[in-house]
Amino acid sequence: MKMSKYYVPTLKEVPAEAELISHQLLLRAGMIRKLASGVYTYLPLAVKVLKNIEEIVREEMDAIDSQECLMSALCPSELWKETGRWDDFGPEMFRLHDRHNREFCLGPTHEEVFTNLIRHELKSYKQLPLSLYQIQTKYRDEKRPRFGLMRGREFTMKDAYTFDRDEEGMRKSYFEMWGAYENIFNRCSLDFKVVEGDSGAMGGSDSHEFIALSDVGETEIVFCNSCDYAATDEKAACSYKIESDEDVKTIEKVHTPDVKTIDELESFFNVSKNNFIKTLLYTAGEETVAVLIPGDRELNEVKLLKHLDVLAHDLEIAAPEVVKEVTSAEVGFAGPIGLKEGVRVLIDERIPMMRNAIIGANETDYHLKNANFDTDFTGEVVGDLIMAKAGDLCPKCGDAMSVERGNEVGNIFQLGTKYSKALNATFLDENGKEQLILMGSHGVGVSRTLAAIIEQHHDEHGIIWPLSVAPYHVIITVVNSKKEDQQALGLELYETLKSAGIKVILDDRKERAGVKFADAELIGIPLRVNVGRDASESLVEFKLRSGGETEVISSNDVLNKVQELLK
Ligand code: ATP
Ligand code: MG
Repeated sequence: MKMSKYYVPTLKEVPAEAELISHQLLLRAGMIRKLASGVYTYLPLAVKVLKNIEEIVREEMDAIDSQECLMSALCPSELWKETGRWDDFGPEMFRLHDRHNREFCLGPTHEEVFTNLIRHELKSYKQLPLSLYQIQTKYRDEKRPRFGLMRGREFTMKDAYTFDRDEEGMRKSYFEMWGAYENIFNRCSLDFKVVEGDSGAMGGSDSHEFIALSDVGETEIVFCNSCDYAATDEKAACSYKIESDEDVKTIEKVHTPDVKTIDELESFFNVSKNNFIKTLLYTAGEETVAVLIPGDRELNEVKLLKHLDVLAHDLEIAAPEVVKEVTSAEVGFAGPIGLKEGVRVLIDERIPMMRNAIIGANETDYHLKNANFDTDFTGEVVGDLIMAKAGDLCPKCGDAMSVERGNEVGNIFQLGTKYSKALNATFLDENGKEQLILMGSHGVGVSRTLAAIIEQHHDEHGIIWPLSVAPYHVIITVVNSKKEDQQALGLELYETLKSAGIKVILDDRKERAGVKFADAELIGIPLRVNVGRDASESLVEFKLRSGGETEVISSNDVLNKVQELLK
Protein backbone atom coordinates (compact mmCIF):
# COMPACT_ATOMS: atom_id res chain seq x y z
CA MET A 1 0.00 0.00 0.00
CA LYS A 2 1.14 3.49 -0.79
CA MET A 3 0.56 5.98 1.95
CA SER A 4 -0.36 8.67 -0.62
CA LYS A 5 -3.52 6.69 -1.39
CA TYR A 6 -4.15 5.19 2.01
CA TYR A 7 -7.02 6.42 4.17
CA VAL A 8 -5.23 6.95 7.48
CA PRO A 9 -6.43 10.27 8.92
CA THR A 10 -3.95 10.65 11.79
CA LEU A 11 -4.46 13.29 14.47
CA LYS A 12 -1.82 15.35 16.25
CA GLU A 13 -3.89 16.24 19.27
CA VAL A 14 -5.09 13.80 21.89
CA PRO A 15 -8.90 13.71 21.53
CA ALA A 16 -10.50 15.03 24.72
CA GLU A 17 -13.10 12.27 24.93
CA ALA A 18 -10.52 9.49 25.21
CA GLU A 19 -9.24 8.58 28.67
CA LEU A 20 -7.55 5.30 27.94
CA ILE A 21 -4.29 5.25 26.00
CA SER A 22 -5.57 2.58 23.57
CA HIS A 23 -8.62 4.70 22.83
CA GLN A 24 -6.47 7.80 22.29
CA LEU A 25 -4.05 5.99 20.00
CA LEU A 26 -6.77 4.25 17.99
CA LEU A 27 -8.29 7.65 17.27
CA ARG A 28 -4.96 9.39 16.68
CA ALA A 29 -3.61 6.64 14.43
CA GLY A 30 -6.68 7.01 12.20
CA MET A 31 -7.90 3.51 13.04
CA ILE A 32 -11.35 4.10 14.51
CA ARG A 33 -13.98 6.82 14.56
CA LYS A 34 -16.97 7.06 16.84
CA LEU A 35 -20.41 6.70 15.27
CA ALA A 36 -22.45 6.69 18.47
CA SER A 37 -21.74 5.95 22.12
CA GLY A 38 -19.95 2.58 22.19
CA VAL A 39 -20.29 2.17 18.42
CA TYR A 40 -17.25 2.59 16.19
CA THR A 41 -16.25 2.62 12.55
CA TYR A 42 -13.11 0.64 11.80
CA LEU A 43 -10.83 2.30 9.26
CA PRO A 44 -8.49 0.34 6.95
CA LEU A 45 -5.58 -0.03 9.39
CA ALA A 46 -7.85 -1.29 12.16
CA VAL A 47 -9.51 -3.82 9.89
CA LYS A 48 -6.08 -5.26 9.04
CA VAL A 49 -5.22 -5.76 12.71
CA LEU A 50 -8.64 -7.15 13.55
CA LYS A 51 -8.30 -9.68 10.73
CA ASN A 52 -4.85 -10.69 11.96
CA ILE A 53 -6.18 -11.33 15.44
CA GLU A 54 -9.11 -13.24 13.97
CA GLU A 55 -6.70 -15.36 11.96
CA ILE A 56 -4.73 -16.29 15.07
CA VAL A 57 -8.00 -17.22 16.75
CA ARG A 58 -9.05 -19.30 13.74
CA GLU A 59 -5.77 -21.19 13.64
CA GLU A 60 -5.96 -22.02 17.32
CA MET A 61 -9.62 -23.08 17.08
CA ASP A 62 -8.71 -25.21 14.11
CA ALA A 63 -5.93 -26.84 16.12
CA ILE A 64 -8.47 -28.16 18.64
CA ASP A 65 -10.96 -29.19 15.93
CA SER A 66 -13.45 -26.47 16.66
CA GLN A 67 -15.40 -25.69 13.49
CA GLU A 68 -16.32 -22.25 12.26
CA CYS A 69 -19.97 -21.30 11.72
CA LEU A 70 -21.60 -17.94 11.30
CA MET A 71 -24.87 -17.10 13.01
CA SER A 72 -27.07 -14.10 12.46
CA ALA A 73 -26.92 -11.27 14.93
CA LEU A 74 -30.69 -11.06 14.56
CA CYS A 75 -32.23 -13.57 16.95
CA PRO A 76 -35.91 -14.39 17.44
CA SER A 77 -37.13 -13.82 21.01
CA GLU A 78 -38.79 -17.27 21.30
CA LEU A 79 -35.47 -19.02 21.87
CA TRP A 80 -34.52 -16.60 24.61
CA LYS A 81 -37.90 -17.00 26.23
CA GLU A 82 -37.34 -20.77 26.35
CA THR A 83 -34.26 -20.32 28.52
CA GLY A 84 -35.64 -17.39 30.49
CA ARG A 85 -32.90 -15.04 29.33
CA TRP A 86 -35.28 -12.76 27.46
CA ASP A 87 -36.06 -11.35 30.91
CA ASP A 88 -32.75 -12.10 32.61
CA PHE A 89 -30.68 -10.02 30.21
CA GLY A 90 -32.73 -6.96 31.04
CA PRO A 91 -31.74 -3.58 29.63
CA GLU A 92 -28.41 -4.85 28.27
CA MET A 93 -30.22 -6.55 25.38
CA PHE A 94 -30.99 -4.59 22.21
CA ARG A 95 -34.55 -5.51 21.26
CA LEU A 96 -36.54 -4.78 18.12
CA HIS A 97 -39.71 -5.69 16.25
CA ASP A 98 -40.13 -6.70 12.63
CA ARG A 99 -42.96 -5.44 10.40
CA HIS A 100 -45.19 -8.25 11.69
CA ASN A 101 -44.52 -7.12 15.21
CA ARG A 102 -42.45 -10.19 16.02
CA GLU A 103 -39.82 -9.62 18.68
CA PHE A 104 -36.11 -10.02 18.04
CA CYS A 105 -32.88 -9.13 19.75
CA LEU A 106 -29.41 -8.38 18.48
CA GLY A 107 -27.50 -11.29 19.98
CA PRO A 108 -25.39 -10.38 23.04
CA THR A 109 -24.06 -14.00 23.07
CA HIS A 110 -25.28 -17.13 21.28
CA GLU A 111 -25.82 -20.06 23.67
CA GLU A 112 -29.47 -20.29 22.66
CA VAL A 113 -28.81 -20.09 18.94
CA PHE A 114 -26.07 -22.75 18.90
CA THR A 115 -28.02 -25.10 21.17
CA ASN A 116 -31.03 -24.65 18.92
CA LEU A 117 -28.91 -25.51 15.90
CA ILE A 118 -27.86 -28.89 17.20
CA ARG A 119 -30.94 -29.89 19.16
CA HIS A 120 -32.89 -30.97 16.10
CA GLU A 121 -30.16 -32.86 14.30
CA LEU A 122 -27.64 -34.12 16.80
CA LYS A 123 -29.08 -37.42 17.95
CA SER A 124 -26.37 -39.89 18.83
CA TYR A 125 -23.44 -40.18 21.22
CA LYS A 126 -21.42 -40.95 18.09
CA GLN A 127 -21.70 -37.28 17.08
CA LEU A 128 -20.10 -36.12 20.33
CA PRO A 129 -17.91 -34.36 21.32
CA LEU A 130 -18.61 -31.41 19.06
CA SER A 131 -17.09 -27.95 19.14
CA LEU A 132 -18.45 -25.07 17.05
CA TYR A 133 -17.52 -21.42 16.98
CA GLN A 134 -18.01 -18.16 15.15
CA ILE A 135 -16.34 -14.79 14.92
CA GLN A 136 -19.21 -12.35 14.88
CA THR A 137 -20.53 -8.99 15.94
CA LYS A 138 -22.20 -8.85 19.33
CA TYR A 139 -24.52 -6.22 20.71
CA ARG A 140 -24.87 -5.23 24.34
CA ASP A 141 -26.47 -2.03 25.50
CA GLU A 142 -23.82 -1.56 28.18
CA LYS A 143 -24.65 0.65 31.14
CA ARG A 144 -21.34 2.51 30.72
CA PRO A 145 -19.91 2.11 27.23
CA ARG A 146 -16.42 3.59 27.45
CA PHE A 147 -12.74 3.32 26.72
CA GLY A 148 -13.20 2.97 22.95
CA LEU A 149 -13.06 -0.65 21.85
CA MET A 150 -12.64 -1.93 25.43
CA ARG A 151 -16.29 -1.62 26.29
CA GLY A 152 -18.39 -1.03 23.23
CA ARG A 153 -22.06 -1.62 22.61
CA GLU A 154 -21.14 -3.35 19.36
CA PHE A 155 -18.02 -5.54 19.41
CA THR A 156 -16.42 -8.54 17.75
CA MET A 157 -16.39 -11.76 19.72
CA LYS A 158 -15.20 -15.26 19.02
CA ASP A 159 -17.71 -17.45 20.73
CA ALA A 160 -17.27 -21.21 20.85
CA TYR A 161 -19.72 -23.79 22.16
CA THR A 162 -18.74 -27.31 23.12
CA PHE A 163 -21.11 -30.26 23.34
CA ASP A 164 -20.17 -33.37 25.31
CA ARG A 165 -21.78 -36.54 26.56
CA ASP A 166 -20.63 -36.33 30.18
CA GLU A 167 -18.92 -34.18 32.79
CA GLU A 168 -15.54 -35.65 32.01
CA GLY A 169 -15.90 -34.77 28.33
CA MET A 170 -17.07 -31.27 29.19
CA ARG A 171 -14.01 -30.72 31.37
CA LYS A 172 -11.71 -32.07 28.67
CA SER A 173 -13.19 -29.65 26.14
CA TYR A 174 -12.82 -26.87 28.71
CA PHE A 175 -9.11 -27.49 29.20
CA GLU A 176 -8.52 -27.80 25.45
CA MET A 177 -10.12 -24.40 25.06
CA TRP A 178 -7.97 -23.10 27.93
CA GLY A 179 -4.85 -24.24 26.07
CA ALA A 180 -6.03 -22.65 22.83
CA TYR A 181 -6.66 -19.37 24.66
CA GLU A 182 -3.18 -19.40 26.15
CA ASN A 183 -1.78 -19.83 22.64
CA ILE A 184 -3.98 -17.06 21.25
CA PHE A 185 -3.00 -14.49 23.85
CA ASN A 186 0.66 -15.49 23.77
CA ARG A 187 0.68 -15.09 20.01
CA CYS A 188 -0.90 -11.65 20.45
CA SER A 189 2.03 -10.80 22.75
CA LEU A 190 -0.24 -10.14 25.69
CA ASP A 191 0.95 -10.38 29.24
CA PHE A 192 -2.03 -12.09 30.89
CA LYS A 193 -3.17 -14.06 33.91
CA VAL A 194 -5.80 -16.79 34.04
CA VAL A 195 -8.06 -16.35 37.03
CA GLU A 196 -11.17 -17.93 38.50
CA GLY A 197 -14.23 -16.01 37.45
CA ASP A 198 -17.79 -15.77 38.57
CA SER A 199 -20.32 -17.58 36.39
CA GLY A 200 -22.82 -14.75 36.83
CA ALA A 201 -25.75 -14.68 34.44
CA MET A 202 -24.20 -17.38 32.24
CA GLY A 203 -25.03 -20.09 34.81
CA GLY A 204 -23.10 -23.32 35.13
CA SER A 205 -20.22 -24.14 37.41
CA ASP A 206 -16.56 -23.50 36.66
CA SER A 207 -15.35 -20.43 34.83
CA HIS A 208 -11.97 -18.85 34.15
CA GLU A 209 -11.15 -15.42 32.82
CA PHE A 210 -8.10 -14.44 30.79
CA ILE A 211 -7.03 -11.02 32.00
CA ALA A 212 -4.62 -8.88 29.95
CA LEU A 213 -2.71 -7.01 32.63
CA SER A 214 -2.95 -3.21 32.71
CA ASP A 215 -2.62 -0.76 35.59
CA VAL A 216 -5.75 0.99 34.43
CA GLY A 217 -7.76 -2.13 33.58
CA GLU A 218 -11.41 -2.39 34.54
CA THR A 219 -11.04 -5.71 36.35
CA GLU A 220 -9.18 -6.22 39.58
CA ILE A 221 -7.62 -9.61 40.16
CA VAL A 222 -6.46 -11.04 43.44
CA PHE A 223 -3.75 -13.66 43.43
CA CYS A 224 -1.63 -15.56 45.90
CA ASN A 225 2.07 -14.79 46.13
CA SER A 226 2.89 -18.44 46.92
CA CYS A 227 0.42 -20.80 45.26
CA ASP A 228 -1.52 -20.69 41.98
CA TYR A 229 -4.70 -19.21 43.43
CA ALA A 230 -5.96 -16.28 41.36
CA ALA A 231 -9.47 -14.91 40.96
CA THR A 232 -11.32 -11.80 39.95
CA ASP A 233 -12.07 -9.56 42.90
CA GLU A 234 -15.75 -10.39 42.40
CA LYS A 235 -15.08 -14.07 42.79
CA ALA A 236 -12.23 -14.16 45.34
CA ALA A 237 -13.17 -15.46 48.75
CA CYS A 238 -12.21 -13.01 51.47
CA SER A 239 -10.48 -14.49 54.48
CA TYR A 240 -10.42 -11.24 56.46
CA LYS A 241 -11.02 -11.99 60.15
CA ILE A 242 -11.99 -9.80 63.07
CA GLU A 243 -11.29 -10.93 66.61
CA SER A 244 -11.96 -8.91 69.70
CA ASP A 245 -12.02 -9.79 73.39
CA GLU A 246 -13.36 -6.40 74.50
CA ASP A 247 -16.29 -6.47 76.92
CA VAL A 248 -19.65 -5.44 75.53
CA LYS A 249 -20.36 -1.84 76.54
CA THR A 250 -23.64 0.05 76.69
CA ILE A 251 -24.80 1.63 73.44
CA GLU A 252 -24.69 5.44 73.41
CA LYS A 253 -25.96 8.16 71.09
CA VAL A 254 -23.37 10.68 69.89
CA HIS A 255 -24.05 14.04 68.23
CA THR A 256 -22.12 13.99 64.91
CA PRO A 257 -23.21 17.12 63.06
CA ASP A 258 -22.58 16.81 59.33
CA VAL A 259 -20.25 13.82 59.82
CA LYS A 260 -21.34 11.36 57.14
CA THR A 261 -18.62 9.47 55.36
CA ILE A 262 -16.32 6.87 56.86
CA ASP A 263 -13.39 9.28 56.41
CA GLU A 264 -15.23 12.06 58.25
CA LEU A 265 -16.21 9.63 60.99
CA GLU A 266 -12.65 8.41 61.32
CA SER A 267 -11.36 11.90 62.09
CA PHE A 268 -14.36 12.86 64.23
CA PHE A 269 -14.09 9.82 66.53
CA ASN A 270 -10.33 9.58 66.12
CA VAL A 271 -10.45 5.80 65.75
CA SER A 272 -9.56 3.67 62.73
CA LYS A 273 -12.08 2.61 60.09
CA ASN A 274 -12.40 -0.94 61.38
CA ASN A 275 -14.36 0.39 64.39
CA PHE A 276 -17.26 1.35 62.15
CA ILE A 277 -19.98 -0.68 60.55
CA LYS A 278 -21.08 0.57 57.13
CA THR A 279 -24.78 0.27 56.48
CA LEU A 280 -25.36 0.33 52.72
CA LEU A 281 -28.87 0.63 51.39
CA TYR A 282 -29.84 -1.04 48.14
CA THR A 283 -32.96 -1.35 46.09
CA ALA A 284 -33.26 -4.99 45.06
CA GLY A 285 -36.25 -5.33 42.76
CA GLU A 286 -39.22 -4.44 44.95
CA GLU A 287 -37.46 -4.52 48.30
CA THR A 288 -35.03 -2.30 50.14
CA VAL A 289 -32.06 -4.08 51.65
CA ALA A 290 -29.60 -2.84 54.25
CA VAL A 291 -26.18 -4.47 54.02
CA LEU A 292 -23.79 -4.35 56.96
CA ILE A 293 -20.05 -4.68 56.39
CA PRO A 294 -16.93 -3.63 58.33
CA GLY A 295 -16.16 0.06 57.84
CA ASP A 296 -12.72 -0.54 56.37
CA ARG A 297 -13.92 -2.83 53.57
CA GLU A 298 -15.87 -2.61 50.31
CA LEU A 299 -19.07 -4.47 49.50
CA ASN A 300 -18.93 -7.16 46.81
CA GLU A 301 -22.20 -6.81 44.89
CA VAL A 302 -21.73 -10.15 43.16
CA LYS A 303 -21.57 -11.92 46.51
CA LEU A 304 -24.58 -9.93 47.72
CA LEU A 305 -26.59 -10.94 44.64
CA LYS A 306 -26.23 -14.61 45.54
CA HIS A 307 -28.36 -13.98 48.65
CA LEU A 308 -31.04 -12.00 46.87
CA ASP A 309 -33.65 -13.26 44.50
CA VAL A 310 -33.02 -10.56 41.89
CA LEU A 311 -31.06 -10.14 38.67
CA ALA A 312 -27.92 -8.02 38.57
CA HIS A 313 -29.63 -5.19 36.73
CA ASP A 314 -32.36 -5.04 39.39
CA LEU A 315 -29.86 -4.29 42.16
CA GLU A 316 -29.09 -0.62 42.64
CA ILE A 317 -27.78 1.66 45.34
CA ALA A 318 -30.89 3.13 46.93
CA ALA A 319 -31.83 6.61 45.73
CA PRO A 320 -31.56 9.44 48.31
CA GLU A 321 -35.39 9.59 48.62
CA VAL A 322 -35.46 5.90 49.50
CA VAL A 323 -32.67 6.33 52.04
CA LYS A 324 -34.52 9.22 53.67
CA GLU A 325 -37.73 7.24 53.74
CA VAL A 326 -36.36 4.07 55.33
CA THR A 327 -33.95 5.79 57.77
CA SER A 328 -36.05 8.90 58.55
CA ALA A 329 -32.77 10.79 58.24
CA GLU A 330 -30.54 12.54 55.73
CA VAL A 331 -28.16 10.39 53.68
CA GLY A 332 -25.09 9.46 55.75
CA PHE A 333 -26.69 8.34 59.00
CA ALA A 334 -28.07 4.90 58.12
CA GLY A 335 -27.74 2.09 60.65
CA PRO A 336 -29.41 -1.21 61.45
CA ILE A 337 -31.50 0.01 64.43
CA GLY A 338 -34.89 1.54 63.76
CA LEU A 339 -35.04 1.07 60.00
CA LYS A 340 -38.50 1.21 58.47
CA GLU A 341 -40.36 -2.07 58.80
CA GLY A 342 -39.86 -4.48 55.93
CA VAL A 343 -36.26 -3.49 55.19
CA ARG A 344 -34.23 -6.68 55.01
CA VAL A 345 -30.91 -6.55 56.88
CA LEU A 346 -28.10 -8.70 55.46
CA ILE A 347 -24.98 -9.01 57.56
CA ASP A 348 -21.43 -9.90 56.60
CA GLU A 349 -20.02 -12.79 58.63
CA ARG A 350 -17.50 -10.52 60.37
CA ILE A 351 -20.05 -8.16 61.90
CA PRO A 352 -20.98 -10.49 64.82
CA MET A 353 -17.27 -10.58 65.78
CA MET A 354 -17.03 -6.79 66.07
CA ARG A 355 -17.24 -5.30 69.55
CA ASN A 356 -18.56 -1.85 70.48
CA ALA A 357 -18.81 -0.61 66.92
CA ILE A 358 -19.98 2.76 65.68
CA ILE A 359 -23.09 2.75 63.48
CA GLY A 360 -25.45 5.31 61.99
CA ALA A 361 -28.40 6.19 64.25
CA ASN A 362 -31.05 6.62 61.54
CA GLU A 363 -31.35 10.18 62.80
CA THR A 364 -29.80 13.17 61.06
CA ASP A 365 -26.51 14.22 62.70
CA TYR A 366 -26.34 11.25 65.08
CA HIS A 367 -24.40 8.02 65.34
CA LEU A 368 -24.44 5.28 67.95
CA LYS A 369 -21.33 3.96 69.60
CA ASN A 370 -20.82 0.64 71.42
CA ALA A 371 -23.25 -1.14 69.12
CA ASN A 372 -23.09 -4.95 69.24
CA PHE A 373 -24.71 -7.64 67.16
CA ASP A 374 -27.42 -9.55 69.02
CA THR A 375 -27.38 -7.16 72.00
CA ASP A 376 -28.39 -4.07 70.02
CA PHE A 377 -29.29 -5.17 66.50
CA THR A 378 -29.82 -8.30 64.44
CA GLY A 379 -30.30 -9.35 60.85
CA GLU A 380 -29.51 -12.26 58.56
CA VAL A 381 -25.83 -13.23 58.81
CA VAL A 382 -25.25 -14.50 55.29
CA GLY A 383 -21.50 -15.13 55.05
CA ASP A 384 -18.81 -13.33 53.10
CA LEU A 385 -20.05 -10.11 51.46
CA ILE A 386 -16.85 -8.12 50.98
CA MET A 387 -14.22 -7.63 48.31
CA ALA A 388 -10.92 -9.36 48.83
CA LYS A 389 -7.93 -7.02 48.70
CA ALA A 390 -4.15 -6.99 48.77
CA GLY A 391 -2.78 -8.41 51.99
CA ASP A 392 -5.76 -10.73 52.60
CA LEU A 393 -4.81 -14.34 53.11
CA CYS A 394 -5.11 -16.87 50.31
CA PRO A 395 -8.16 -19.12 50.75
CA LYS A 396 -6.11 -22.02 49.37
CA CYS A 397 -2.75 -21.83 51.16
CA GLY A 398 -3.04 -19.03 53.70
CA ASP A 399 -0.21 -16.89 52.35
CA ALA A 400 -0.64 -13.19 51.59
CA MET A 401 -2.34 -12.16 48.35
CA SER A 402 -1.63 -9.30 45.95
CA VAL A 403 -3.80 -7.33 43.59
CA GLU A 404 -3.32 -6.37 39.94
CA ARG A 405 -5.58 -4.84 37.33
CA GLY A 406 -6.37 -5.85 33.80
CA ASN A 407 -8.95 -6.27 31.07
CA GLU A 408 -10.88 -9.48 30.49
CA VAL A 409 -10.03 -10.63 26.98
CA GLY A 410 -11.35 -14.17 27.23
CA ASN A 411 -13.68 -16.24 29.32
CA ILE A 412 -14.34 -19.98 29.43
CA PHE A 413 -17.37 -21.56 31.12
CA GLN A 414 -18.53 -25.03 32.00
CA LEU A 415 -22.24 -24.67 31.50
CA GLY A 416 -23.35 -28.17 32.42
CA THR A 417 -26.91 -28.78 31.28
CA LYS A 418 -28.32 -25.30 31.87
CA TYR A 419 -29.08 -24.66 28.20
CA SER A 420 -29.54 -28.24 27.00
CA LYS A 421 -32.18 -28.73 29.68
CA ALA A 422 -34.03 -25.52 28.91
CA LEU A 423 -33.96 -26.19 25.16
CA ASN A 424 -34.24 -29.97 25.39
CA ALA A 425 -31.00 -30.79 23.58
CA THR A 426 -30.46 -34.50 24.11
CA PHE A 427 -28.67 -37.48 22.57
CA LEU A 428 -29.09 -41.22 22.75
CA ASP A 429 -26.29 -43.02 24.58
CA GLU A 430 -24.95 -46.53 23.77
CA ASN A 431 -27.92 -48.04 25.58
CA GLY A 432 -30.41 -46.02 23.60
CA LYS A 433 -31.14 -43.90 26.66
CA GLU A 434 -31.86 -40.20 26.18
CA GLN A 435 -29.35 -37.93 27.94
CA LEU A 436 -28.87 -34.18 28.20
CA ILE A 437 -25.85 -32.75 26.39
CA LEU A 438 -23.19 -31.12 28.58
CA MET A 439 -22.09 -27.77 27.27
CA GLY A 440 -19.35 -25.22 27.50
CA SER A 441 -19.28 -21.64 26.26
CA HIS A 442 -16.05 -19.83 25.50
CA GLY A 443 -15.56 -16.23 24.41
CA VAL A 444 -12.67 -14.14 23.17
CA GLY A 445 -13.21 -10.40 22.91
CA VAL A 446 -11.52 -9.91 19.55
CA SER A 447 -11.96 -6.14 19.34
CA ARG A 448 -11.14 -5.76 23.03
CA THR A 449 -7.98 -7.80 22.45
CA LEU A 450 -6.94 -5.26 19.83
CA ALA A 451 -7.27 -2.47 22.41
CA ALA A 452 -5.55 -4.58 25.10
CA ILE A 453 -2.55 -5.11 22.80
CA ILE A 454 -2.17 -1.34 22.38
CA GLU A 455 -2.46 -0.85 26.16
CA GLN A 456 0.60 -3.08 26.54
CA HIS A 457 2.51 -2.09 23.39
CA HIS A 458 2.99 1.65 23.00
CA ASP A 459 5.27 4.51 23.95
CA GLU A 460 4.89 8.29 24.05
CA HIS A 461 5.06 8.43 20.23
CA GLY A 462 2.41 5.87 19.44
CA ILE A 463 1.58 2.21 18.97
CA ILE A 464 4.26 -0.50 18.74
CA TRP A 465 2.54 -3.45 17.03
CA PRO A 466 3.86 -6.92 17.75
CA LEU A 467 4.77 -8.51 14.41
CA SER A 468 2.08 -11.19 14.84
CA VAL A 469 -0.80 -8.73 14.55
CA ALA A 470 0.80 -5.69 12.87
CA PRO A 471 -1.27 -4.25 9.99
CA TYR A 472 1.97 -4.09 7.96
CA HIS A 473 5.39 -5.43 8.84
CA VAL A 474 7.49 -2.76 7.17
CA ILE A 475 7.09 0.93 6.47
CA ILE A 476 9.43 2.49 3.93
CA THR A 477 9.64 6.24 4.42
CA VAL A 478 10.90 8.33 1.53
CA VAL A 479 12.50 11.13 3.51
CA ASN A 480 12.44 13.79 0.79
CA SER A 481 9.87 13.03 -1.90
CA LYS A 482 11.24 15.84 -4.06
CA LYS A 483 14.45 13.87 -4.60
CA GLU A 484 14.04 11.50 -7.47
CA ASP A 485 16.71 9.03 -6.35
CA GLN A 486 14.95 8.66 -3.00
CA GLN A 487 11.55 8.17 -4.65
CA ALA A 488 12.99 5.63 -7.06
CA LEU A 489 14.85 3.58 -4.44
CA GLY A 490 11.83 3.67 -2.11
CA LEU A 491 9.61 2.37 -4.88
CA GLU A 492 12.09 -0.30 -5.89
CA LEU A 493 12.38 -1.58 -2.31
CA TYR A 494 8.62 -1.49 -1.94
CA GLU A 495 8.14 -3.63 -5.06
CA THR A 496 10.85 -6.06 -3.95
CA LEU A 497 9.33 -6.59 -0.51
CA LYS A 498 5.80 -6.78 -1.89
CA SER A 499 6.75 -9.46 -4.43
CA ALA A 500 8.34 -11.44 -1.62
CA GLY A 501 4.99 -11.44 0.21
CA ILE A 502 6.02 -8.96 2.87
CA LYS A 503 3.24 -6.68 4.14
CA VAL A 504 4.72 -3.29 3.36
CA ILE A 505 3.66 0.38 3.22
CA LEU A 506 5.51 2.99 1.20
CA ASP A 507 5.25 6.49 2.59
CA ASP A 508 5.56 8.39 -0.67
CA ARG A 509 3.54 11.43 0.45
CA LYS A 510 4.70 14.91 -0.33
CA GLU A 511 4.91 15.78 3.33
CA ARG A 512 7.73 17.03 5.50
CA ALA A 513 10.02 14.29 6.80
CA GLY A 514 9.00 15.12 10.37
CA VAL A 515 5.34 14.49 9.61
CA LYS A 516 6.11 11.16 7.96
CA PHE A 517 8.35 9.98 10.79
CA ALA A 518 5.77 10.98 13.37
CA ASP A 519 3.04 9.08 11.52
CA ALA A 520 5.24 6.00 11.15
CA GLU A 521 5.77 6.00 14.91
CA LEU A 522 2.12 6.71 15.65
CA ILE A 523 0.71 3.87 13.54
CA GLY A 524 3.34 1.56 14.99
CA ILE A 525 4.63 -0.45 12.01
CA PRO A 526 7.29 -2.70 13.62
CA LEU A 527 10.08 -2.48 10.99
CA ARG A 528 11.12 0.85 9.52
CA VAL A 529 13.23 1.61 6.48
CA ASN A 530 14.11 5.25 5.81
CA VAL A 531 15.28 6.12 2.32
CA GLY A 532 17.12 9.43 2.60
CA ARG A 533 20.25 11.28 1.62
CA ASP A 534 22.33 8.14 0.96
CA ALA A 535 19.87 6.75 -1.58
CA SER A 536 22.31 7.60 -4.35
CA GLU A 537 24.72 5.09 -2.78
CA SER A 538 21.93 2.54 -2.24
CA LEU A 539 22.18 2.93 1.52
CA VAL A 540 19.11 3.10 3.78
CA GLU A 541 18.40 3.35 7.48
CA PHE A 542 16.90 0.34 9.17
CA LYS A 543 15.32 0.48 12.61
CA LEU A 544 12.84 -1.26 14.83
CA ARG A 545 9.79 0.66 16.03
CA SER A 546 10.40 -0.87 19.46
CA GLY A 547 13.71 0.95 19.78
CA GLY A 548 17.41 0.20 19.61
CA GLU A 549 20.09 1.38 17.22
CA THR A 550 19.44 2.69 13.73
CA GLU A 551 21.55 0.69 11.27
CA VAL A 552 22.70 1.92 7.88
CA ILE A 553 22.48 -1.00 5.46
CA SER A 554 22.61 -1.59 1.76
CA SER A 555 19.20 -1.57 0.11
CA ASN A 556 20.08 -5.01 -1.27
CA ASP A 557 20.12 -6.41 2.27
CA VAL A 558 16.71 -5.13 3.31
CA LEU A 559 14.71 -8.13 2.14
CA ASN A 560 17.01 -10.61 3.88
CA LYS A 561 16.96 -8.64 7.07
CA VAL A 562 13.16 -8.39 7.08
CA GLN A 563 12.75 -12.09 6.32
CA GLU A 564 15.17 -12.93 9.11
CA LEU A 565 13.18 -10.86 11.61
CA LEU A 566 9.85 -12.28 10.45
CA LYS A 567 11.06 -15.77 11.23
P1 ATP B 1 -17.37 -7.79 31.06
O1 ATP B 1 -17.31 -8.43 32.43
O2 ATP B 1 -16.13 -7.08 30.68
O3 ATP B 1 -18.62 -6.99 30.86
P2 ATP B 1 -18.46 -10.22 30.16
O4 ATP B 1 -17.91 -11.15 31.18
O5 ATP B 1 -19.84 -9.77 30.27
O6 ATP B 1 -17.48 -8.96 30.03
P3 ATP B 1 -18.48 -12.35 28.23
O7 ATP B 1 -19.93 -12.59 28.15
O8 ATP B 1 -17.63 -13.26 29.00
O9 ATP B 1 -18.24 -10.84 28.72
O10 ATP B 1 -17.94 -12.16 26.73
C1 ATP B 1 -16.76 -12.75 26.22
C2 ATP B 1 -15.70 -11.71 25.93
O11 ATP B 1 -16.21 -10.66 25.12
C3 ATP B 1 -15.18 -11.03 27.17
O12 ATP B 1 -14.17 -11.81 27.76
C4 ATP B 1 -14.65 -9.72 26.61
O13 ATP B 1 -13.33 -9.89 26.15
C5 ATP B 1 -15.54 -9.45 25.43
N1 ATP B 1 -16.53 -8.39 25.75
C6 ATP B 1 -17.59 -8.48 26.58
N2 ATP B 1 -18.26 -7.33 26.62
C7 ATP B 1 -17.62 -6.48 25.79
C8 ATP B 1 -17.83 -5.13 25.40
N3 ATP B 1 -18.86 -4.43 25.85
N4 ATP B 1 -16.96 -4.57 24.51
C9 ATP B 1 -15.91 -5.27 24.03
N5 ATP B 1 -15.66 -6.55 24.36
C10 ATP B 1 -16.50 -7.15 25.23
MG1 MG C 1 -16.89 -12.76 30.99
